[in-house]
Amino acid sequence: MSDVLELTRALISRPSVTPDDAGCQALLAARLQAAGFACEHLRLGEVDNLWATHGTCDGPTLVLLGHTDVVPPGPREAWHSDPFEPTLRDGLLYGRGAADMKGSVAAFIVAAERFVAEHPQHRGRLAVLLTSDEEGDAIDGVRRVADIFRERGERIDWCITGEPSSKARLGDLLRVGRRGSLSARLDVHGVQGHVAYPDKARNPIHLALAALDALASRRWDEGYEGFPPTSLQISNIHAGTGANNVIPGELEVLFNLRYNPHWNADRLVAECEGMLNAHGLSFDIRWHRSGEPFFTPEGPLRLAAREVLAAFAGADPEESTGGGTSDARFIAPLGAQCIEVGPVNASIHQVDEHVAVADLEALPDLYGALLERLLA
Ligand SMILES: [Zn+2]
Repeated sequence: MSDVLELTRALISRPSVTPDDAGCQALLAARLQAAGFACEHLRLGEVDNLWATHGTCDGPTLVLLGHTDVVPPGPREAWHSDPFEPTLRDGLLYGRGAADMKGSVAAFIVAAERFVAEHPQHRGRLAVLLTSDEEGDAIDGVRRVADIFRERGERIDWCITGEPSSKARLGDLLRVGRRGSLSARLDVHGVQGHVAYPDKARNPIHLALAALDALASRRWDEGYEGFPPTSLQISNIHAGTGANNVIPGELEVLFNLRYNPHWNADRLVAECEGMLNAHGLSFDIRWHRSGEPFFTPEGPLRLAAREVLAAFAGADPEESTGGGTSDARFIAPLGAQCIEVGPVNASIHQVDEHVAVADLEALPDLYGALLERLLA
C-alpha cells in the first residue's frame, strides 16, 4: 500500500468531527518532526492548530494549508461502509474526509517529506498549517492563527490550500480567488392593527416592498476580472400573526451578499443601510461577515500551478473564483498569494464520500512538482 494511501486511511479512522482533531495533528506532527520540521502546536479554545516550518526566512515562504476536521457523517445506515472505517471498493477510498480534505493533507505531508529529503538546503521556507476548525465556526482556527501571525510579523508569500477543487478529473480546475460573503437579518418595524382600519396601523410588509425590490434588483457591479457580478439574494421573508384580519407589527428578512473585490463588507453594509434609510424604514439589522473576497492575479504561483496542473490533467485548467469560502480568506490579507488545488469534489459533505485511489496517489507528485518549481 502506498505511503499516502496508508496515511489517509490512518486519518479517516480518527473520527475528527469538527472541531475535534481526534489525534490527527499529533500523528502528522510526529511525521513532520522526524523529517526535520519545527512544529508549534497552537491550541486556541477548543481548536487544535499546527504550524510546522522547514528552512529559513531569507527567501520566500510557501504554506501548505489544510484542515484535519470533517463534517458530521449523517446517518450511519445511509453509508455503504462505516464513515470512519476507511474502505477500498472499485478503486475508490471511502470514508468521511477522504476528499475534504484528509487525502490532500496526507499528500501534503508525503510531498513535504520527500522534498526536504531531496533538497535539505532548499531556498526559503516550507511550512504546513493545519487547523481542526474549518468546517465549524472557523473562529479559533486559521482566523485566529492569522491574527497571531500578524502580531508576530510573520511573512507568507504563497499559500496552497488543498480544498477539493477539481471538477471531473484531478487538476482540471485552479481556484485563484473566492467571493466574499455577508449575511444580514433585517427587522422592519411597523404598527400592528386591524386590516379594516389601516389608517390606525403601519404595515411593515407594504413599507418594505419597495426597499426590498431595490436591494434585490440592483446591479451592484459588472464583475471583476475572473469574478461574476456581486449578487444579493433574499433567503427568507417572514411576517404575520396567523390571522388574516391582522396587519402584523414586524417583518423579518434574511439576505446574503456574495461579492467580488470591487467591494468590502463595510462599504456594502453602509450601502444597504443607506438604501433602507432612503425608503424611510424603521428597522434593526444584524450583520454577519464571514469573509472578504480574495484574488490572486497572474504571478509566479499562478503560472507554476497552471503548468503543473496542465501536465497532470492533460489540458490547461479552468481558472475559477467560484464556490463558497475557505480558510485562504484569512491568509490572503497577510499579503500572500493564494490558490486552491485538490482532488475531485463531487462527493464532499455527502454520504459515501470518496476519493479515487489513482488521484490520491498522484497528489503528492502534484504538490511535489509545485514545491520543485517554487522552492528548489
Ligand atoms: Zn474542506
